Amino acid sequence: MTAALTHPDVRFPLDDATGSVALIQHVGDDKMIVNAARVSFGGDSALPMTARDSKLIRYLLQHHHGSPFEHNLITFKVVCPIFVDRQMVRHRVGVSKNEISGRYVEMQERMYQPGTFRRQAPSNRQASVEDDGTLDQAAAARTWEAAWQASYAAYQQLLALGVTREQARGVLPQAMYTESYYTFNVRSLLHFLELRDHEGAQYETRLYARAMGELAEPLFPVTFAAWRELHTVG
Ligand SMILES: Cc1cc2nc3c(=O)[nH]c(=O)nc-3n(C[C@H](O)[C@H](O)[C@H](O)COP(=O)(O)OP(=O)(O)OC[C@H]3O[C@@H](n4cnc5c(N)ncnc54)[C@H](O)[C@@H]3O)c2cc1C
Repeated sequence: MTAALTHPDVRFPLDDATGSVALIQHVGDDKMIVNAARVSFGGDSALPMTARDSKLIRYLLQHHHGSPFEHNLITFKVVCPIFVDRQMVRHRVGVSKNEISGRYVEMQERMYQPGTFRRQAPSNRQASVEDDGTLDQAAAARTWEAAWQASYAAYQQLLALGVTREQARGVLPQAMYTESYYTFNVRSLLHFLELRDHEGAQYETRLYARAMGELAEPLFPVTFAAWRELHTVG
């Protein structure tokens, strides 16, 4: 289960030793996107990328011609808190997922604890703001830790009583780590990044999205360069 953590292309978005995104595999490259677009005119080729090809990728992105970006796949192993995963799993189109099952395995004692707690923002849309020094960080950390300890102890107690894993997991909190394989095509990944590596997204989810973007970018450098330029310019 920890094999992905030894993979060279791995990021630890939450700055602990558990939360991670590992690049597992990928299919295709920028040229595949060009060829998928050019096959409409019988113009696909095995030649290396040219400046004209790069311009085509930018044009496709700019004009929302999305289907040529669907032939490339990127698989990540994502170890994240359940509350982050609940947001990721909302991305339905062009995304495949398989997750560890709390029915089949005993859930490990792996909990995310924020290094720093944020305040509730006055605006619900903004959701959270940096602590201005008025939050009792130590008390928040103690409360979080105590809730986790109580929940995990209850889980183990239920298992010891003979309760099935599929019911006992009901007492486990959203800060518990889960792990999944996520496969995106490039179109769905860019859409995910637009929504989740965004100031309106939850900070922790944003860190995961950013890590995924960083891992994917060297695989599709022309596409990401054009996308970032268009994204920044708006
Ligand atoms: C900052 C933020 C806050 C959010 N807050 C909430 C919230 O409070 N509550 C909540 O429930 N969700 C919330 N979401 C989730 C959000 O509503 C989307 O479900 C999620 O972002 C996935 O986006 P998507 O549907 O575009 O992606 P995908 O599911 O991957 O879909 C991709 C695209 O395919 C098309 N599509 C997909 N399904 C359909 C369909 N059934 N009919 C027509 N077109 C379709 C759309 O064009 C869509 O953009 C939030 C998301 C963000 C980023």
